[in-house]
Amino acid sequence: MEDKMASLERLNLIGQMAAGIGHEIRNPMTTVRGFLQMYRNKDSFIKYKETFNLMIDELDRANSIITEFLSLAKNKPVNLTLKNINRIVQKILPLIQADATNNEMVVEVELTEVIDLLLDEEEIIQLVLNLVRNGFEAMTAGKRLKIKTFLDGNQVVLAVEDQGSGIKPEILDKLGTPFFTTKENGTGLGLSVCYGIAERNNATINIETGPSGTTIFVRFDDFAGML
Ligand code: ADP
Ligand code: MG
Repeated sequence: MEDKMASLERLNLIGQMAAGIGHEIRNPMTTVRGFLQMYRNKDSFIKYKETFNLMIDELDRANSIITEFLSLAKNKPVNLTLKNINRIVQKILPLIQADATNNEMVVEVELTEVIDLLLDEEEIIQLVLNLVRNGFEAMTAGKRLKIKTFLDGNQVVLAVEDQGSGIKPEILDKLGTPFFTTKENGTGLGLSVCYGIAERNNATINIETGPSGTTIFVRFDDFAGML
């Protein structure tokens, strides 16, 4: 954990500069992507269609690296307002549902009544989406992902439970290290972003994993302390 924090700190310094560059790189990328998209369907290029698709996919991947890096390196102050996490989950559920359907997977929600918390809604949305996306990416068609909220003592807990392949014990302590990924097309930034968001929203992340799946628990600070 300390290692993770240290590398997040380092990234924050480099990040200020890189964030600026990231923004600037996006504009030319958008231009290139636009032309690729235009030429992809031209008759004279039709036999290169797969190559065009690959180029566009790779640009999109570069773009998501920048997006995730920007949110990791951002120095925008956190915007905490009283929010109900259930409402945030419900708000983005259609998006998650569509993602599940596309991948022939099932999403279930089990939201129990929880107290409002001081949260940065935009960040919590990103946190949930990152966790859910990892869940989907770990699962095969037909599997189920569950999003739960519940109270554990005085803590509000959000849990994302997947029926994926699980996380190998030997990589568990690398999780959250920026750019660590086991995926061919991964950015390795999703969980780093999540750890940063959790910290800013007074939450901690715990992982339970095994061969039949993974559950990520996000535990928000004991609300009794805020009264
Ligand atoms: P990325 O998804 O781009 O690889 P992340 O930071 O989101 O980057 O995740 C880092 C790594 O953690 C993944 O490559 C994967 O090995 C592992 N991981 C994260 N969530 C899960 C999950 N729900 N099930 C299995 N492995 C996971
Ligand atoms: Mg991810």
